[in-house]
Amino acid sequence: MKIFVVNAGSSSLKYQLIDMENEQVLCKGLCERIGVSGVISHKAADGRTYNAETAMPTHSEAFEAVVYALTKSDAKVIDSFDEVTAIGHRAVQGGSDFTDSCLITDEVIGKMVEWSDLAPLHNPANILGIEACIKTFGKEIPQVAVFDTSFHQTMEPKAYMYALPYEYYEKYKIRKYGFHGTSHRFVGTRATELVGKKDSKIITCHLGNGCSITAIKDGKCVDTTMGLTPLDGFMMGTRTGTLDPSAVTFIGEKENLSLKDLDRIMNKESGVLGISGVSNDNRDVQAAADAGNERAQLAIEMQRYQIIKFIGSYIAAMNGVDAIVFTGGIGENDGALRKAVCESLTFTGLKLDDAKNGIRGEEIKISTDDSAVEVYIIPTNEELAIARDTLAIISK
Ligand code: ADP
Repeated sequence: MKIFVVNAGSSSLKYQLIDMENEQVLCKGLCERIGVSGVISHKAADGRTYNAETAMPTHSEAFEAVVYALTKSDAKVIDSFDEVTAIGHRAVQGGSDFTDSCLITDEVIGKMVEWSDLAPLHNPANILGIEACIKTFGKEIPQVAVFDTSFHQTMEPKAYMYALPYEYYEKYKIRKYGFHGTSHRFVGTRATELVGKKDSKIITCHLGNGCSITAIKDGKCVDTTMGLTPLDGFMMGTRTGTLDPSAVTFIGEKENLSLKDLDRIMNKESGVLGISGVSNDNRDVQAAADAGNERAQLAIEMQRYQIIKFIGSYIAAMNGVDAIVFTGGIGENDGALRKAVCESLTFTGLKLDDAKNGIRGEEIKISTDDSAVEVYIIPTNEELAIARDTLAIISK
């Protein structure tokens, strides 16, 4: 059985075709510049590639290009799209309406439209992807939505409410929703299996361009760092993470900036990029720090310190921790960051195995056997998580 996984952005579309017999990726690809021109880059698992420029005025033409790549190009992997049993979509904001992944119906699309207010960049793009799939592949093929926010819906009000006048929650549903839920659930579920203990307390650190940390007790999210939007938490590639909101109103007044300008500055010009002035990419910033750039060094120290503080606060929130998981581009690859974070947690009895911490690109326990807290690198795989959910839902 083959599942087609789609992650639609406003002008891009990422996809994978996964064979669920063995959970192997048959091919993956990306359409870009949708609405402007159109370019597809497609790669089969055996290394064959297909790259083409082709007009993509809308997502529908992008899907037609994908069907060509899958079924007719030199890098084809199936004879006909009829071989695909179902489509799984990455969806961003499901709000409090979606505690789980679900089969897409007109009602589901309607609810996603309602939640677009809170995710104006993401939900409309996800909906475009879903509607283009219906247009291209028909209504017969089941489609499933897997929301970034669903996993975090188990948070209690004391964790998700902001101390603003209550009316804003009632009027606009202003609260913490959390994101990266599919990744936290994927690595958190695996860590729960590895720890093999009921009521286990796990802290998952998804550290990529966007970064978030989640506290998971007995398989359920109790708290997470991202908030109403992915801006909250700790500093990321270009996002501020948490800060005194008065700093923003102060800068806005001094520099005569609009709310839109401030939003752009906090989301796109801050974080590791804003502090270092070098790059949003941790590798470049580390290289600059190694060459003596003090702001780059400061950015690295700030990010690590903020990660340590959130982990510490989640240990307190759960009254303990059994395992800490690192995932995402930084979490999976940056041994120096993992070491710095773990060295600040030795008060818990955590002991890092330095040799294992040097291994990259595979699932591995990097704490010593006598460590009181287990530490893992677990590569995330959101596409596989989406495909598994899709299979589970259509099999019901
Ligand atoms: P996204 O959130 O876009 O999926 P990724 O999970 O791929 O991003 O993470 C991107 C980040 O991972 C970048 O900051 C990059 O510098 C970092 N990264 C990738 N490889 C390494 C490495 N070997 N050492 C340190 N950081 C790395």
